[in-house]
Amino acid sequence: MFNLFKNEGKVKDPVCGMKIDKNKTQFSFVDKGETFYFCSQNCKDIFVGDNKKQGQEKKGGCCS
Ligand SMILES: [Zn+2]
Repeated sequence: MFNLFKNEGKVKDPVCGMKIDKNKTQFSFVDKGETFYFCSQNCKDIFVGDNKKQGQEKKGGCCS
């Protein structure tokens, strides 16, 4: 019955695609009012770097 509530904190790391809990991760980034969550500082750096240097080749992410 509380499965829905349990899944509420689950979000996808936009860099590596890993499922993480936004209530547990300490790596987050707000862009234009939207909050993104990451599994590691490395993934966050890649995401933030992509926002700043668009057109550059993407790095692999943390878990590839
Ligand atoms: Zn990641």
